[in-house]
Amino acid sequence: MVLLKWTFAFLVYFKKDAGKGILGYRVGMSFLTDLIRPSIKTTKKREVAADVWEKCPGCGQLIYDAELPQHLYCCTHCGHHLRWNVDERLAYLLDQGEEQGSQEPGTKVGPAPVAIEVRVPADDPLQFKDRKAYKARLKEARAVSGHNDAFRALHGHIEGQPVAVCALDFDFMAGSMSRGVGEALVAVAQYALEHRLPMLAITASGGARMQESTLSLMQMARSTAAISMLKEAGLPYIVLLTDPTTGGVTASFAMTGDVHMAEPGALIGFAGARVIEQTIRQTLPEGFQRAEYLLEHGMVDMVTPRAEQKAVLARLLGMMTSGVRAG
Ligand SMILES: [Zn+2]
Repeated sequence: MVLLKWTFAFLVYFKKDAGKGILGYRVGMSFLTDLIRPSIKTTKKREVAADVWEKCPGCGQLIYDAELPQHLYCCTHCGHHLRWNVDERLAYLLDQGEEQGSQEPGTKVGPAPVAIEVRVPADDPLQFKDRKAYKARLKEARAVSGHNDAFRALHGHIEGQPVAVCALDFDFMAGSMSRGVGEALVAVAQYALEHRLPMLAITASGGARMQESTLSLMQMARSTAAISMLKEAGLPYIVLLTDPTTGGVTASFAMTGDVHMAEPGALIGFAGARVIEQTIRQTLPEGFQRAEYLLEHGMVDMVTPRAEQKAVLARLLGMMTSGVRAG
């Protein structure tokens, strides 16, 4: 009986500490290593600074951070378009005047962009608080971005073609549409009307800003109305859809363009895929809500890689405004 007890205790010990040993035998590794010290010591994992390498969400390979700007934040292995900071995007897309560096011979260069004035409404009209007060979230986002809200409003040029630009900043509260963002769209549209300029919206947004509730949803109607004024005046309106463009932004000014250009692989949709699947109880097709899928189904006009966007936009602006400025 005593022998049986000991055998049982021994087996329990082995089971608890079982590891895969030499030749695949299951042995109690800690039991053995307690007796025989390993001759080869495990090498320490080399620490890699997180901000030096980035893992590509497309192919999973490591991309060297320092190489990203020269490749316009596209993966050097598979070309996957990573999310790109709005200020860096605008600095690339818009002409920077005489100081601009090397340029293809014969390409026009317009003056550096100037800000379009936007009167941002007073903060936090609903005194909203979730886990954190909305005022505190705004303060934090402003400190990080150095901007007042999730937009940039600029009068710039793309290869010499003038354009009024409203770009959303995904790094500022996920580019959500606040009253400030709505105001920016209206201001840029009015500026375009006044100066008879085409308008370009660059979208990257999680949708409406929940902290502003219905007031945020109202911006869908306001921005759509502002774009309609452009259309009535015969001024072109182009949308560059970047990853991700979702919710109330997709359901308003992002989808009312004369031309919709999307970035490769960008997520563009209204409701999230999981919500749709749960609602319709069907599995969604491969690539659903991605730029290429939307191109196939006629929701966007072109899927244009970053490196080509500038030239294509300049060509579009040139063609679409040839009769505008005279009128
Ligand atoms: Zn990749």
